[in-house]
Amino acid sequence: MAKHQFQTEANQILNLMIHSLYSNKEIFIRELVSNASDALDKLNMLVLTDDAYKGVEFSPRIDIVADKDAKTLTIKDSGIGMNEQDLMNNLGTIAKSGTKAFLEQMTGDQKKDSNLIGQFGVGFYACFMVAHSVEVITKKAGEEQAYLWTSKGDGEFEIEKATRDSHGTTIIMHLNDDDAEFLDSYRIENIIKKYSNHIPFAIFMDKEKYIPAKKDDDGNEIEPSKNEIENVQINRANALWTISKSEIKDEEYKDFYSSIAHSSEEPLTWMHNKAEGAIEYTTLFYIPSKAPMDIYRVDYQTGIKLYINRVFITDDEKELMPTYMRFLRGVIDSKDLPLNVSREILQSNAVMAKIRNASVKKVLSELAKMAKNEKDKYENFFKEFGNVLKEGLYSDYGNREKILELMKFNTLKSDETVMFEDFLKNVDEEKKEIYYITGKTSLSMLKNSPALERFKSRGIDVLVLNEEIDTIIFPMITEYKEYKFVHVSDAKFGENEDEKKAEQESAKEFEGLVKELKDSLGDSVKSVEVTFDLVESPVKLKEDKEDPAYMMAQMMKQMGQ
Ligand code: ADP
Ligand code: MG
Repeated sequence: MAKHQFQTEANQILNLMIHSLYSNKEIFIRELVSNASDALDKLNMLVLTDDAYKGVEFSPRIDIVADKDAKTLTIKDSGIGMNEQDLMNNLGTIAKSGTKAFLEQMTGDQKKDSNLIGQFGVGFYACFMVAHSVEVITKKAGEEQAYLWTSKGDGEFEIEKATRDSHGTTIIMHLNDDDAEFLDSYRIENIIKKYSNHIPFAIFMDKEKYIPAKKDDDGNEIEPSKNEIENVQINRANALWTISKSEIKDEEYKDFYSSIAHSSEEPLTWMHNKAEGAIEYTTLFYIPSKAPMDIYRVDYQTGIKLYINRVFITDDEKELMPTYMRFLRGVIDSKDLPLNVSREILQSNAVMAKIRNASVKKVLSELAKMAKNEKDKYENFFKEFGNVLKEGLYSDYGNREKILELMKFNTLKSDETVMFEDFLKNVDEEKKEIYYITGKTSLSMLKNSPALERFKSRGIDVLVLNEEIDTIIFPMITEYKEYKFVHVSDAKFGENEDEKKAEQESAKEFEGLVKELKDSLGDSVKSVEVTFDLVESPVKLKEDKEDPAYMMAQMMKQMGQ
């Protein structure tokens, strides 16, 4: 028997589970069932694609056993299983680098916090919310030796050799007295229906069945009524995306979201699409109502699972959909990809590229519909994910116009963000110039920038872009249809000859002052010029956007330096 310490982060998570997260405990079942389902998915793929697993039998099932006398709840699968090394790596440490962010995000609000569980692969540890001690008996497919992992969730775990009939994993939870409710078969069945109804594998459980008394023709009892135990399947186990839309209730869509997104919050919306034609595929995409906390991290968790004809392939492929759509959760399933597709093939596969392109278009058009018909919903979407979608303006040139049309912007004249389309309505029909100002500062600061004075005095609206990402993106966006994007400092008004002459005349009067200013400011400015654009302020700073030093400074800022 060997004793081991949990890695620090794993221990922190454990303590959190045990001491802080009391609400919504029931999700531990969702997490363990989801792990069992993952383990079956993994074995399924190997058996189908890897010769080394040819002799391995794949008979997928998940069993839940509640023992009221022993106060144990057991969840068992016939999946890939784990060897000693896997146990060390998977049930002692937390591999996901997002864990630290997860811990930092803990608010102390239990409802919120427990929604976060699972998003960072801390799913397994949820069992310590209800159990004072846990045993894992597991045998890896294709290997001989089984192992027993035990822990009381107190900082240590032990691994020793054990026996198990065939490959798979059995998790035995010794429940706390307070959590005995999770031994009740109705309670368990309800939880499974809520969170795991549509995982692709069957879950079985013993259920008491009431058998009414048997009576003869005269109504005399020959056999009394009794309760019989029956082992029954308690979930539907039909991959939800394969069912036709008209047969799926909203509740079922929502429940499936909960199981694949590990979230107890309702999704904002979903899009279920079946494509038939040259390439056959099905997509079911969800948009969460809240952004996950790792959305701006490089190592964000991907949310799309790829299936090939219902066989799970991967959920860790960032190329399945473009990064600017990383808010999506859901499934892509196609019959037209080879089962043994490797990551490299996936990235250069023409079928995959077609599915991806069509899916992107579909999502963009669904968003456009939402923006038009469900303004509040869209407002919610944009608040959470607008800046992520905005990244598409530079990363997806082909869809730039469509993405622009989905943008909501702050403008000089409006107190709320406005749809790009509405902003365009007020653009001068002759000039067709879209003026914008960028700057990483507060909205009110930017709106009060001296550079906007001449627009204010002329009553011209301007896009006021104060997000960090704007300073990078907008210099790259030069046009939309027949419109041109013009930075406020490049905008030209009053270009007729008379005005120019008058300006030149009065500029001469300031020559002395200009020289004096330049002399005293020295190298801290590039030049001092006379401008006629200011209405209220005496001076303004003008950035030379072409200057490499300026661009460098912007890049450094972007990298947080
Ligand atoms: P995640 O599922 O997000 O990876 P979990 O904490 O739920 O995180 O599980 C950690 C890891 O433990 C899994 O990635 C998997 O490798 C392993 N694991 C957990 N449960 C099982 C199981 N029933 N069968 C095989 N491996 C499992
Ligand atoms: Mg898990």
